[in-house]
Amino acid sequence: MGPEVRDLLHLQGKVKSVAIMGGTFDPIHYGHLVTAEAARVEYQVDKVLFVPNRQPPHKKDYPVTPAKHRYQMTVLATITNPYFYVSRIEIDRPAPSYTIDTLRSVRKVFGPEVKLYFISGADAILDILTWKDVDEVMEMCYFIAATRPGYPLEELGRRLGHLLEKYSHKVYCVEVPALAISSTDIRQRVAQNRPIKYLLPESVENYIYKYRLYHDEGNWNHHPLK
Ligand code: NAP
Repeated sequence: MGPEVRDLLHLQGKVKSVAIMGGTFDPIHYGHLVTAEAARVEYQVDKVLFVPNRQPPHKKDYPVTPAKHRYQMTVLATITNPYFYVSRIEIDRPAPSYTIDTLRSVRKVFGPEVKLYFISGADAILDILTWKDVDEVMEMCYFIAATRPGYPLEELGRRLGHLLEKYSHKVYCVEVPALAISSTDIRQRVAQNRPIKYLLPESVENYIYKYRLYHDEGNWNHHPLK
């Protein structure tokens, strides 16, 4: 096992199910935290591993805040929840951050008996057909697709097409009202000097101001709006 899994070893042998909460978290906000907690409770998951990616494979041409900041903000945001851990597994692995590599490493750490979930935004999961080794990805875990209120679920079914026929028993949806909050909106608000209070933990808000993240709109405003 590589050094990037060392922060997971203390959980070895102590869990029956683990959910990987994958994302760019630029920045992490209450929508992400509520999603993870809702999924944990609904699917009775022992631990949720937040896995900030180093370089999202589908955003190679867009600026993303340096991984060290996104990692630190994720640690700050999750510190008060005893079921939440943050893993450096993707941060410490050379880019790009393919989910299949993470699943293989996590499986190696926890063994074949542990039930694995992957939680992410429904929009991210919708693109799964373009992911590396998609069939193996689908074999290795259950998916929890988090949707914002009013999200057209039939769209998820239509776009996943034949994959869903084969794996429909492996994809679950949770509707999370707090996902009306979005990282894109938070970045825009900071750049435009608008408030972000109550959209994310105060510790993360303070971190953003301390390191002047997102202040310069020019650094990221060509990022496609979601
Ligand atoms: P994204 O494209 O930035 O996000 C798509 C939508 O999902 C956004 O509305 C986003 O909201 C939301 N979202 C993202 N992560 C979420 C989470 N954990 N819980 C709830 N909502 C979430 O997605 P991304 O963050 O870059 O990627 C999502 C995950 O898929 C990451 O782990 C990434 O590495 C993985 N991925 C893997 C591959 C591959 O293996 N080839 C390709 C693409 C993505 P916010 O903007 O507010 O977060």
